[in-house]
Amino acid sequence: MMIKKWWTFVFTALSLLLVLVLNACFSLGDAKTTNAPSLSAKATVASPAFGLPIDCKLGKDCYVMHYVDRDPSKEVIDFGCGRQTYDGHNGTDFGIANLQRMNAGVPVIAVADGQVLRGRDGVEDVLIANQAEKAAVQGTECGNGLVVDHGNGWTAQYCHLRKGSVVVKSGTPVKKGMILGLVGSSGLASFPHVHLTVRYQDKVVDPFVGVDDSKSCSIARNPLWSMPVGYVPTGLISAGFTANPPTPLEIWQGKHENKSISVSAPSILFWVHSYGLLAGDQERLQLFNPQKEMVVDNKKVINAPARSYISYGGKRKFMTGEWQGKYQVIRNNKVVVQADREILVQ
Ligand SMILES: [Zn+2]
Repeated sequence: MMIKKWWTFVFTALSLLLVLVLNACFSLGDAKTTNAPSLSAKATVASPAFGLPIDCKLGKDCYVMHYVDRDPSKEVIDFGCGRQTYDGHNGTDFGIANLQRMNAGVPVIAVADGQVLRGRDGVEDVLIANQAEKAAVQGTECGNGLVVDHGNGWTAQYCHLRKGSVVVKSGTPVKKGMILGLVGSSGLASFPHVHLTVRYQDKVVDPFVGVDDSKSCSIARNPLWSMPVGYVPTGLISAGFTANPPTPLEIWQGKHENKSISVSAPSILFWVHSYGLLAGDQERLQLFNPQKEMVVDNKKVINAPARSYISYGGKRKFMTGEWQGKYQVIRNNKVVVQADREILVQ
């Protein structure tokens, strides 16, 4: 009865982050093409035991947004036979929630022992959202980055570090796990992340696969990681409450990270930012008032794949107290995205 007395206004909005199409990462400096020997003898290639290039907990406060594109054609495929990559992507993108997290400082760390070959700093942090902005970073696509020699033919390139954060330079010896700088969004980046390209004898190696000449997925793998790193092509980036409909850019900027909402605000909206959604996924967004009554229950079947996806719903008329939002994406009877959040309305 309570619900019916309310004048309800339910927002439902879904927006694809097309800006991600523009994201790419290119070589830093004078990367050369050489006639590298065949890499087919993978069993004989020893690699360092690589750590992650970012100091965070995968699946909790960071995630892999893009894997290496293993398809040489215009099609895209990641090593898990999914589409969480884009054409020609030669590395792995480890993302963080937003620019607020970036500004708080998330370390980029060395994946193995080695020595810095070359680096760059001084490039602005940006969120590339269109072709004009993309053109403006031509020549500095990697942003603030480093190339580190990890020995025995192995190198790693780290891109998009935060402006002014690079703490090593050419010739600096590094130890695995040592801080090189901070996660940023410099160069050709549409979200805050560190891009890692691993090379063996100048040829790109997918760290989830190991040295392998095949250009396909679902293959025998010998990952470079020193610990198991799961394939998680779909997951949560961030979630929260806000008073006004969020845009993708504002979500990346961290502008909807409210700790409380005023009862006089225009609306209360629960929003969720996720990645790797596929056509056929079923999403459900629910909002509960302080009396635990469900006042929003939005269900939708995703009709097109989205590498990054924002969903939100809420009400224009609302009371003080603690509100709760619940969100799930279900695929084949399995929960692939889940977010539960509370907020105080004052
Ligand atoms: Zn990348």
